[in-house]
Amino acid sequence: MALVSAAEMLKKAREGQYAVGAFNTNNLEWTQAILRGAQAANAPVMIQTSMGAAKYMGGYQVCYDIVKDLIDSMGITVPVALHLDHGEYEDALKCIEIGYTSVMFDGSHLPFDENLEKAKDVVAKAHAAGVSVECEVGSIGGEEDGIIGSGELADPAECKAMSDTGIDFLAAGIGNIHGSYPENWTGLSFETLEAIADVTDGKPLVLHGGSGIPLDQVQKAISLGVSKINVNTECQEVFASATRKYIEEGKDLEGKGFDPRKLLAPGFDAVTELVKERIEWFGSTNKA
Ligand SMILES: [Zn+2]
Repeated sequence: MALVSAAEMLKKAREGQYAVGAFNTNNLEWTQAILRGAQAANAPVMIQTSMGAAKYMGGYQVCYDIVKDLIDSMGITVPVALHLDHGEYEDALKCIEIGYTSVMFDGSHLPFDENLEKAKDVVAKAHAAGVSVECEVGSIGGEEDGIIGSGELADPAECKAMSDTGIDFLAAGIGNIHGSYPENWTGLSFETLEAIADVTDGKPLVLHGGSGIPLDQVQKAISLGVSKINVNTECQEVFASATRKYIEEGKDLEGKGFDPRKLLAPGFDAVTELVKERIEWFGSTNKA
């Protein structure tokens, strides 16, 4: 199946009260692991690259080619969208040109008026190419901010203004945080999420920082309008932990255990398993 825009899959998710998993990739095998997991779960999926990961992989064109070619060679039949995660304006335009089927323009660090203006421009260019657009209002807390008990809460009025630019889905802080959640995290603000959903006309909402939010909070967020959930840190953690186990057990020292195809296999299998498990959590199993 060809790459698809995420507009339709998230609209269906919003209507059907489930969420599509958006998993960040870092390399060839990571991409295979995500595709394998989604295909096994018969679920629509979003594969996303941050600007940094795309640079690491050799550029947006390489990311695009890898995803597109693997869909063919692996015989993937579930809908897959290739998405730019937290993109600057120029990067969003570049990805549209290359063939990404979805982009996030993150202007949350800009003055709000400028964020809106640039969002409108990205929407016009993306929609002309059949590409879906995610934008962000406010900002989402992260571990770089130190130990914080709560993430930022977006202003519903700003969410409405951003939604009205014609974007396809909206990321807004509801107490979620990138990276690992601190011990004293106060949880998602469902009050904020409801207030945002009330003014955004059924637009799919995006939950960033999906790693480590308890299942009950994830499901409640979905019931209130969250239709895309980003998972990154957790995939990295299970990959690292499985790889550490392999080496600590001395398996790289047995026979040809040092072969990267063997050494990296447990890590990538762990990513595949986590992808399947999160898809199950999000309710998108068999929604392809
Ligand atoms: Zn994010």
